[in-house]
Amino acid sequence: MKLTVLGSGTCGSQIPGVQNRFPPAFVLEAGDCKIMFDCSEAVRFRLEKAGFNYVDINHLCISHAHPDHYALVHFLQSIGCINSWLGPRNERIDVYAPRQITDNFDALWALYVPDDPHRKNRIWPDLKFHPMSNPDRCVMMIGDAKLTSFSVYHGFGKVDACAFRVELNGKVFVYSGDTGEGDSIRECARDADLFLCEASARIHDVKNPFEYGHLTPALAGDIAHKSGVKHMVFFHYTGLNTDEEMIADCRKSGYEGSLTVAKDFDVLEF
Ligand SMILES: [Zn+2]
Ligand SMILES: [Zn+2]
Repeated sequence: MKLTVLGSGTCGSQIPGVQNRFPPAFVLEAGDCKIMFDCSEAVRFRLEKAGFNYVDINHLCISHAHPDHYALVHFLQSIGCINSWLGPRNERIDVYAPRQITDNFDALWALYVPDDPHRKNRIWPDLKFHPMSNPDRCVMMIGDAKLTSFSVYHGFGKVDACAFRVELNGKVFVYSGDTGEGDSIRECARDADLFLCEASARIHDVKNPFEYGHLTPALAGDIAHKSGVKHMVFFHYTGLNTDEEMIADCRKSGYEGSLTVAKDFDVLEF
């Protein structure tokens, strides 16, 4: 599998160190399939810059509805315009997401596009929604890859949020989305070859993983250590701690595997 980082940052900019770190989005090439994880603002520009044609994205996993991860209406409009102007280029997208998204997307769309609230115009790709948070663990096949979702704790427990695990040919990729502490993220990360893990709580904000629901680098390290992760890649970089401080904090956990603080356009093969 091959992972391309399209956004290693957050919704915040103008902080030293976060220049050129856009909000979360990633492309996983798994066999013949390209799976995009999260769909943040203006992601199509970064897809283009990374060498992808954005109409080729047919599988989209969205971790939760916070706006820094979920700008799906905007992405669809870009595809709809290409379908309209150049002829059909993308006619179907499978969306794997928590129920807060799958149950409410049509209402969100109608607010943005009152001239075509039910997407009758054939320029829009057909959206096939797969609710992934009810039950707490859902399994789907995407080509030969097995996708499993795990409901995780985030946003004071009020946000319906998923982490995702992809297994293909004996390799395991895990995407944390936004998460605090909990058994499910630990189970999701088990024996991952590449664990793409958020670490957006500040180093000393040790209550955050249990209250709001973000991980400190040390707690992410503890999860990786106890779950047998081989390579952990931090994303959702805030700029409030340096890469070096995050790595030092993570190593306090005893995690000795590979560790990277992601930057946009990093490419990782495993
Ligand atoms: Zn969030
Ligand atoms: Zn976020």
